[in-house]
Amino acid sequence: PAAARVRNLTKTYGTGQALVRALDDVSLDLLAGEFTAVMGPSGSGKSTLMHCCAALDRADSGSVFIGDQDLTRLKDKALTTLRRDQIGFVFQSFNLVPTLTAEENIKLPMSIAGRRPDGGWYDSVIDTVGLRDRLSHKPSELSGGQQQRVAVARALASRPRIVFADEPTGNLDSRSGAEVLELLRRSVDDHGQTVVMVTHDPVAASYTDRVVFLADGRVVDELREPTRERVL
Ligand code: ADP
Ligand code: ADP
Repeated sequence: PAAARVRNLTKTYGTGQALVRALDDVSLDLLAGEFTAVMGPSGSGKSTLMHCCAALDRADSGSVFIGDQDLTRLKDKALTTLRRDQIGFVFQSFNLVPTLTAEENIKLPMSIAGRRPDGGWYDSVIDTVGLRDRLSHKPSELSGGQQQRVAVARALASRPRIVFADEPTGNLDSRSGAEVLELLRRSVDDHGQTVVMVTHDPVAASYTDRVVFLADGRVVDELREPTRERVL
């Protein structure tokens, strides 16, 4: 089954003569328990697609089904609930709250929602992320790779239906990047998590099950069981 279905999604930025069609009739199924990479040149619409799928931005037309809910039909309040309960997001720049510890950051979305973490799930996330001895540290006391692992744990903590990651290794050296990619891979293999990741990096893409290529706001190709050589 699909964790998310994108149908005829279109988004235009700007007004008058300065129109940019960032997404042009994109349709795509994101299968449950798969790790998908989205690749394509700069400006091809990757970030816009992630933001529209994760309910961080609104498309002009088309649908995005998360499970059986079309998020393009939801009012702001219902959208906030869906984003909070069913969607995880990992940013290139980590976006941790600097004054909070790693553990407080991981639990923040759930505490805002007034939800208690599911104990068994929370423990397995912390084990998977491998940060037990760093939980009381603030972001400034952690390396970039550790900060991004905290951000991945935060995205996984609510046990979302789907996790979106926009260039999660873009600010990391290759070794820290590999740790983050292994972590995302493990969340898929061990917990059946569905993950979608924007990346420019063929090595990063080789961790995934499927690569979807965008150009000029359209899906132009896809590749299953990617290897570094085949993506290049
Ligand atoms: P990518 O992530 O593949 O680099 P984006 O989704 O960021 O592509 O951008 C797709 C197109 O939409 C580009 O032409 C970009 O300049 C344009 N765009 C993106 N965001 C905005 C915005 N907020 N305002 C105007 N144009 C935008
Ligand atoms: P990415 O590296 O993720 O593709 P970009 O550098 O394309 O990010 O864009 C970063 C942010 O700036 C995004 O939130 C996007 O919406 C916005 N943006 C991108 N292009 C434009 C643009 N031409 N005008 C205004 N905002 C833009």
